[in-house]
Amino acid sequence: MSDSFTDALQGLAAIVGDKHVIASAGDQEAYVVDWRGRYQGRAVAVVKPGSTAEVSAVVRCCAEQGLAIVPQGGNTGMCGAATPDDRAGNVVIRLDRMRRVRDVSPLANTITVEAGCILAEVQTAAKSVDRYFPLSLGAEGSCQIGGNISTNAGGTAVLRYGPTRDLVLGLEVVLPDGRVFNGLRALRKDNTGYALKQLFIGAEGTLGIVTAAVLKLFAPPRSSALALLKLQGVEQALEIMARLRGAVGDRLGSLEILSRSQIEAIAATVPHVAIPFELTTPWYLIVELTDTLANVDLNEPLADVLADAMEAGLAEDAILASSIAQAKVIWAVRHSVSEGNKRSGYVVSHDSVVPLERQAVFVTNVEARIMAAVPHARVVMHGHIGDGNIHVIALLDRARCRDPQATAEMVAWINEIVDDETAAQGGAISAEHGIGITNRGRLARVTDPLDIELMRGVKRLLDPKGLMNPGKIFAAGAA
Ligand SMILES: Cc1cc2nc3c(=O)[nH]c(=O)nc-3n(C[C@H](O)[C@H](O)[C@H](O)COP(=O)(O)OP(=O)(O)OC[C@H]3O[C@@H](n4cnc5c(N)ncnc54)[C@H](O)[C@@H]3O)c2cc1C
Repeated sequence: MSDSFTDALQGLAAIVGDKHVIASAGDQEAYVVDWRGRYQGRAVAVVKPGSTAEVSAVVRCCAEQGLAIVPQGGNTGMCGAATPDDRAGNVVIRLDRMRRVRDVSPLANTITVEAGCILAEVQTAAKSVDRYFPLSLGAEGSCQIGGNISTNAGGTAVLRYGPTRDLVLGLEVVLPDGRVFNGLRALRKDNTGYALKQLFIGAEGTLGIVTAAVLKLFAPPRSSALALLKLQGVEQALEIMARLRGAVGDRLGSLEILSRSQIEAIAATVPHVAIPFELTTPWYLIVELTDTLANVDLNEPLADVLADAMEAGLAEDAILASSIAQAKVIWAVRHSVSEGNKRSGYVVSHDSVVPLERQAVFVTNVEARIMAAVPHARVVMHGHIGDGNIHVIALLDRARCRDPQATAEMVAWINEIVDDETAAQGGAISAEHGIGITNRGRLARVTDPLDIELMRGVKRLLDPKGLMNPGKIFAAGAA
């Protein structure tokens, strides 16, 4: 280790204490590789500060030594955005020790949490005061709220509550030079100049380290009903959604679609998840209604819409969950998609969003073109269909992915097809996962040059030395 790194390590340990600096490569393993195991980097140290003041001092220390800073939450992100690259001078900063709920107010319907809080902990803290924090996703037991904010995570409740951006009222952020942006306000209305906090939401840790947030809370759902529908296609799912919106309005909480191939991938690889229905059609739709009033019978309106839908030939079959336990079993299938895909092959995952009326043609075209280009690929799909976000995933046979060059070529063809079709249908390539490393090469292809110029301008303004999560969104060193 060079002298300058020895100095840096001493400086970091002086701020957070020796036991919160992980310098040995063996102990760093879990922090220098992404969730999919695709990107492997290295770090001078993984540092765990215990307060905003310590984060600020750590960032200053790194800036002085010219070390790159990689903010990392639960490391569940899909695009390698929390993984250091293989340069010598990276410091991974994790906020695992910053898990305090600073305040929770049933009056203001807000909760103020430190960014290292696990998402499930935020949900539980809200529940303890009879409130609800609606962000929900498969990784909620390990992702951190700082990571959710920095990826502007979506999940299964966007249809009613919006993505994470819509749930954030205020933010505290340590900037790349160590200064603290104090926007930790619980104001629902604030037109005082530019909405600076918005810059940090979805910035993938490239503009600063989120250390705390004020989040919106809601009344908890006290009644619910869930159904699983068997369908021939996406068009039918959208027609059913339109009918549901007319009939039950805002009670429509979640609408998730899965292709048969997606469920088959789970069935084959995730043995602890039962598939509680027969696979007889190409598509499956999970519909959940909720109401904040207790003892509201939502099964009846749901059953009415489903009966109409079946009569109109939109659904082949519908299963109403008879209990909360049965509903949980169905949700378990949905929450296992990422695990199932990871176990099923080399995953080429996409996060497209297209206007609702173009979704059916999008999925048909994209599947046909991928199958023509890479015949051995298995195309599986799942998505938050109500908000236009459909994940098209090509699962490649791992045996054919041993040669990195040939694999990169296959991935590039598939990406090009998806980008092409997404653009043709007026959509965007990232609805909720972000750009990170995985998609940075695609950004220029699908983004207006003026947008990129403005983004780079913001990056240069806040991080002129380019030390905050370099190589994410834009290639490293790109000014
Ligand atoms: C099983 C599974 C299911 C998933 N389902 C969904 C889903 O439905 N919807 C969805 O949107 N995503 C989903 N994801 C992806 C992932 O969980 C989300 O992107 C999540 O928000 C990432 O949080 P994290 O704490 O793990 O962040 P990380 O992966 O650690 O980091 C993600 C990004 O945020 C930055 N970051 C982390 N913490 C901070 C901080 N405090 N300050 C500044 N930057 C920070 C990192 O640098 C990186 O750029 C899923 C992942 C898995 C494994």
